[in-house]
Amino acid sequence: MYQAKGQGRDRWDAFDGSMRQAVVDRIRAETDLRRAIDNGQLEVHYQPEFLRETGEIVGTEALVRWRHPLRGLLAAGSFISLAEETGLVVDLGRWVLGKATIQGAEWVPDGRDIITRVNLSARQLRPAVVAEVEDALRVASLPADRLCLELTETAIMDDVQESARILAQFRELGVQVAIDDFGTCFSSLAYLKRFPVDILKIDGTFVGGVGADPDDTAVVRSVIGLARTLRLEVVAEGIEDASQVGELVRLGCGRGQGFHLARPAPAEDVSMLLSGSLAPPSE
Ligand code: C2E
Ligand code: MG
Ligand code: MG
Repeated sequence: MYQAKGQGRDRWDAFDGSMRQAVVDRIRAETDLRRAIDNGQLEVHYQPEFLRETGEIVGTEALVRWRHPLRGLLAAGSFISLAEETGLVVDLGRWVLGKATIQGAEWVPDGRDIITRVNLSARQLRPAVVAEVEDALRVASLPADRLCLELTETAIMDDVQESARILAQFRELGVQVAIDDFGTCFSSLAYLKRFPVDILKIDGTFVGGVGADPDDTAVVRSVIGLARTLRLEVVAEGIEDASQVGELVRLGCGRGQGFHLARPAPAEDVSMLLSGSLAPPSE
């Protein structure tokens, strides 16, 4: 029934062995992920974000990792959609938020201006999240303006009324909000105007072609222009080589992250980078 529903309305489908296998695999994956959360197999890695002008680290993005007993270290991309579909992302996200704010608070002293970015999925955008964020900030003693919550356009558009209310409460708390993967979805001017948003993160798919592909370059240029017009900050993600850095700077974006600058790594490695010593190879 779900297979048929997934294809659209008024459809039928015949059950076969491959569907049984898919169901069994999914149930197993869900059980494994639930256990991973309870058994401490999850970790938070951090990808530094750099400011070109000074070469300094100005932020870190918290990215969840699963140290799978059989499959090794798994990036979020390989299990976050399962976490979203099953609702496990709510517990997972609360845990990441707690870890990341405590870590972020450790990096803030010595007058450093480092912002901690944490991803939130659509499932987490419910009224209780505001108190969770407030609690996390209090427990960690992290100033609210040192925390930035990243949301995709799809997550915001899931329930526009609810999102507007929650984002307004984030603003009241003093927490920043970034639109993640900007350019890949609606990129609607109406919601940018309507929602209290502080930062646009240019999606890596466009950054990958900047300077080389005229379409990607045009998208990047217009996102930077849009951010400037709306007085938003702009951060490029997925920077993979020096020519992209040069092109981004030329277009007016001097803030970014990517494998070329630093890969996501455990907190200890990022602390070493911050203290000026070279971090060992990560991931
Ligand atoms: P995102 O927030 O857009 O994060 C950036 C993703 O791009 C990360 O993948 C990062 O490892 C990867 N990346 C960074 N630099 C480069 C680069 O130069 N080239 C390429 N090809 N990739 C790069 P990751 O960690 O697998 O995360 C995938 C997505 O999963 C994230 O996309 C975010 O939407 C979600 N996610 C990650 N951690 C969390 C979390 O704690 N909670 C929630 N709700 N979602 C999370
Ligand atoms: Mg993100
Ligand atoms: Mg992104």
